[in-house]
Amino acid sequence: MKALRSIYITLFITGFYVHNGMGGPVADPGPGVNVNVDINVGGGSSGGVSKPGPGTCNVDCGHWCYPGKDWPYTCPHHCSGSIQSPIDICSESATDETGSITFSPSYSVSIPKLVIKNNGHTVGASWSSSLEPRTITGGGLTDVYELAQFHFHWGCKDNRGSEHTVDGTRYAMELHNVHFNTKYGNLSNALKYVDGLAVIGVFFNVGDENAVLKPITKDLQYVVKPDAEKEIDFNQALADLIPTNRDFYRYQGSLTTPTCNEVVTWSVFKTHQSFSEDQVKSFRMLMDKEKEHMCDNYRGIQPLNGREVKLYSP
Ligand SMILES: [Zn+2]
Repeated sequence: MKALRSIYITLFITGFYVHNGMGGPVADPGPGVNVNVDINVGGGSSGGVSKPGPGTCNVDCGHWCYPGKDWPYTCPHHCSGSIQSPIDICSESATDETGSITFSPSYSVSIPKLVIKNNGHTVGASWSSSLEPRTITGGGLTDVYELAQFHFHWGCKDNRGSEHTVDGTRYAMELHNVHFNTKYGNLSNALKYVDGLAVIGVFFNVGDENAVLKPITKDLQYVVKPDAEKEIDFNQALADLIPTNRDFYRYQGSLTTPTCNEVVTWSVFKTHQSFSEDQVKSFRMLMDKEKEHMCDNYRGIQPLNGREVKLYSP
C-alpha cells in the first residue's frame, strides 16, 4: 500500500512538472481544527469525518477533493502531520528578520508562451524547459530553488479563496510559485526532503485588472474541462506577479493538497495584488471532476503547533 502510494505521488507531481509542470501541491484540517472566520465555508469546513461512498472523491489519497477535512484519514501519511499548511499568520507574533529573496535575472525576463492546464483541482502554468530556469535564493533560503510551476487557489465569492490568512483575513485568491531545491534535481525527488521545496504565496483581492494575469485569464475559457490544456501567448515576466513591496512571512510547512508532504519553506508576501471581477469570474468558470464549478479550492487553516513565523523585510 505504501509503495503504491509513493508511485502515485511521483506520477502526480511529475505530471505537473514535466512539460506542464502545474497544478500540484495544495489540501484541509482534521475535525475541529479550524480556528478562523471561514468555518464551514469552502475549503475551510470543519466537523466530523464523513464516510465517502464508492465512486466519490476523498476515498483515498489519489482521489481527493475539497473540502479537505477527510484528508488526514484518507491520506494519513502526511496529511495528519504536525507542520501542515496553510496557517493563519498572526502578524503581531511574527519575529522580525532582515533579508529579502533574490530572484534570478531570468525571473524578470518575459516568457513568450505558457501551457495552462486544468487538473481538476486548480489551473496551473508551465513553460518550455529550454528556457533558462527561474530561481530564487536568499531571504533565509540557503540553497537555490528552481521554479517548476505556478497555480492558483480562489473562492466562490470575493471574500474568500486564499489558503493562508493574515490575522484572520482571507483574500480572494492566492498564487503559488512552486520551486524545488536544485540540489535534489527535480520536483518529485525534492518531495523526499524537508528542505525540498520553497513556495512563494501571493495574495490577490478584487479591484483593478491585473495586466500580467490577463493573457491567462482571457484564455481560461479553453481549459474549462478537467485535464484540458492549452498553449497560450504570455509575453510577461513572472517577477511582475510578485508585489513590489518585498516583505514576506516565512514559516516551515507542507503542501496544501494530498499528499501534504511536510517539505515546504513558505514565503507568503505581505502585500496583496489586485485583479478584476471579470478575471476572478474567469477562474470560477473552470469545472472540476465532480462536474462542479471550480472554486473554494483552498484548504482550511491548520494548527500552528508552536511553529515560528518570521517577517522578513529588506
Ligand atoms: Zn497551491
